[in-house]
This record gives sequence, C-alpha cells and structure tokens, in this order.
Amino acid sequence: MNNRSITRQNEGIDGTERFLSPGKGRGLRAVRHFAVGELVFACPAYSYVLTVNERGAHCEHCFTRREDLFKCGKCKQAYYCNVDCQRGDWPMHKLECVAMCAYGENWCPSETVRLVARIIMKQKVTTERTSSERLLLLKEFESHLDKMDSEKDEMVQADIAALHHFYSRHISDLPDEQTLIELFAQVNCNGFTIEDEELSHLGSAAFPDVALMNHSCSPNVIVTYKGTVAEVRAVKEINPGDEIFNSYIDLLYPTEDRRERLLDSYFFTCQCTECTSKSKDKAKMEIRKLSSPPEPEEIRSMVHYAKNVIEEFRRAKHYKNILLLKTEDLIQLISLSQEKMGAIFADTNVYMLHMMYQAMGVCLYMQDWDGAMNYGEKIIQPYSVHYPAYSLNVASMYLKLGRLYLGLEKKSQGVRALKKALAIMEVAHGKDHHYVAEVKREIEEQK
Ligand SMILES: [Zn+2]
Ligand SMILES: [Zn+2]
Ligand SMILES: [Zn+2]
Repeated sequence: MNNRSITRQNEGIDGTERFLSPGKGRGLRAVRHFAVGELVFACPAYSYVLTVNERGAHCEHCFTRREDLFKCGKCKQAYYCNVDCQRGDWPMHKLECVAMCAYGENWCPSETVRLVARIIMKQKVTTERTSSERLLLLKEFESHLDKMDSEKDEMVQADIAALHHFYSRHISDLPDEQTLIELFAQVNCNGFTIEDEELSHLGSAAFPDVALMNHSCSPNVIVTYKGTVAEVRAVKEINPGDEIFNSYIDLLYPTEDRRERLLDSYFFTCQCTECTSKSKDKAKMEIRKLSSPPEPEEIRSMVHYAKNVIEEFRRAKHYKNILLLKTEDLIQLISLSQEKMGAIFADTNVYMLHMMYQAMGVCLYMQDWDGAMNYGEKIIQPYSVHYPAYSLNVASMYLKLGRLYLGLEKKSQGVRALKKALAIMEVAHGKDHHYVAEVKREIEEQK
C-alpha cells in the first residue's frame, strides 16, 4: 500500500496536512496554494448547543434563524423548523426536555455543562472517526490539566456537580470523576462559540479539526459558521508549506494584553509576527494630547484599571447574563470608567473603544438607536486601523452601523456602511453565504 492510498483511506482534508509545528506541537499546514477568500475546509460540529437566549429565534437542530419556528410540545422551550429538525435533535434534546419541565426556573446548567453532556452522549453512540475528526480526534484534545490553577479547578468542580445534578437521570452511566475533569478541561481549551454575522452569541460547539490549527495574532484564516458547520477561509495568500493559523482571541488589544489572555486561557506565550514586532501597540495605546503628558506610572495604573473593569464585565457575562444586571448600574459603570480613562487615553485608545462598544451594546438593548449610532461612528474608524485587514469585528461593526442608519432613514450612509461590511464578508464568509445574500438584499431594497 503506498502513501497515497493510506491518506485516502483516512480521508484527511484536501490541500492540508497535520504536522508537528516547531515549538507549538501539532498543527495544520497547507500542501497547496490557497487564494484570499478561498475555502480551506469545512467541519461539521461534533456536538453543539444553542444558547438559551436564542431559543425561539433559531432552530435548536440546524441553527436556522426564522420567525415561523414551532415549539416542542413537551417542554415548550425548544423550537424547530419542522418535524425533521425536531426528530434529528431528539437524541440530544431528550437530555433536557423532561428535566427542564421538572426543574422549571431552577434548571440552570452552564452552556459548557450542556455541551459536555451532549459530547458524552455522542461518544456513547459513535464508535468510528466522525467527519468532524478527519485530522484530530476529540479524544486527542489537549487538556493542560497540570497547568490549571485553583480558580479553574473550582469552576470545573462546579460544572461536574451541575452535570450530575441536571443530567444523571438521563445519561445512565456518567464517566468517572477523573474522566470528567479531563473532558471539561479539554472543552475549556478547545471549545468554540458560534456567532452570527453581528457577532451575537448563538451557541457553543466542538469542532475537532478546526481546533487543530494553532493561534496567531496575524492569522491567515478566519472561521465563520453556516448553521452548525464551521467554515475556514483564507484571509491571506497561503502557499504550500505555510502553517495555517487561526486567531483564538479578540485581536483589538495590545501585545502584553493579548499574551496574558492567551497564557491564561490556552497556556502558551504567543511568538507570532505581531507579538514580536508589536507594530500596532503604539496606536492601540494612544494617549490624549495634554499640555503636561502623563507619567509612565500613571499610564500603567490606568491600564491596570481598564483591565479590571473589562474583567468585571467578562465575569458578569460568564456567571449570569450581562443583560440581567440592572441597566442603570451598567450604564453608570461604563460612563464612570469612560470618564476616568478619558483623562489620559485618547478616544482611539483600545480601552476607550472597549467601553464605547459596551455602551453601544446597552444602547441597542434599550433601543436607543441614535445613541448606538453615535457610538458606532466613533468606533468604526479606529477599529479598521487596529484590526487586521479582514476582520469579523470590523465587518460586524459596519453591519450594525449600516442597519442603524437604514432604520433611521439615513439611506446613503446606510448603503455605504453595508457595502464596507459586504467587502469583508465576501472574503470571510464566502460569496455564497446566506448572510452575504441577506446584506445584498438590504442594499438592493434601498434602490
Ligand atoms: Zn432546523
Ligand atoms: Zn422539549
Ligand atoms: Zn501573537
């Protein structure tokens, strides 16, 4: 048997190969050329779960967004396109359907717990390599158990307790403690969140082959979603022999900040071209022009303050739901921190932009369209400078802004913004994506 037939037997992914990346462990490499906008590969979710907040707006099974979904007659909480989607989802939905009725308001497992329960079920019924694992098996996921601190340990323990509490009646024999600790740790390092075209959170999923890619702060691919399928497209020319890099994090922030996040969540120190050149750090940390410039110590303490505020938000979002916080408290926290930071940071500084982004979110939530538009207008230009050429953050901001303009009858500004979004989305999502078709229709309607 020659190599070629072995490869064919293992399927693999055309045009790519798994390899050992120096200093990074396993990774994905191109064996042919990929042009900008070209699909490198697609990967169906191994397991996935729709987030609770999107129930009723998306089908639980295929994630299609439509208004005429019908609900599960038993729990009245899960919604479907049709009987086929309902039937297809039942092996997973049955883990929650009866339990949700029984627990009522008290049914509250975290999204990670919900995803892990589904992974365990899937593992029970699959014996062969799935189409999501052509190059990397879920079992092979890195867990970094040895590097977990006590805080992460506690979170995993709480998740395991919740898994037993909400799922033990419906999964006959849950794996033992050690297996569960490892599985949660694996999902924490390798799990994905699925977002829509405006980057609203839709759910969580495991995409083993996508998780094979290593991280770079200057990535050459972007991951988008078509329903519950992940699609990986080139956003830079990729040549045979090049490693294929995805970004694991929000690339808005300066090098030190990005490195901290990567170390904390993924346990490595990034050595990418952006982290070594630090070429964007100065613009990202722009200081306000003042008659007496601030001391370095002042700047450092302000960065420290900014990071704490951001962390506060992140936790609130993780543990509850940020929208459940009192809106007034939220607005106060945002305007207070904006005022404080604004004494030193320029409006284009990424920490200022972070607060403006949060403020825009609150305005959208409160349907203050003018307020949201004003923030969007301040954010968009610096965003385009700080982020890479093709960025979902920039595309989604143009999209939000364009839709706000159209809602406020600002036709030409709206069309201009939507066209900017479209130019990025045609590369990142692909020309045939339904999101692209939707934006084109919105532009067309203005003629
Ligand atoms: Zn469906
Ligand atoms: Zn149900
Ligand atoms: Zn980096």
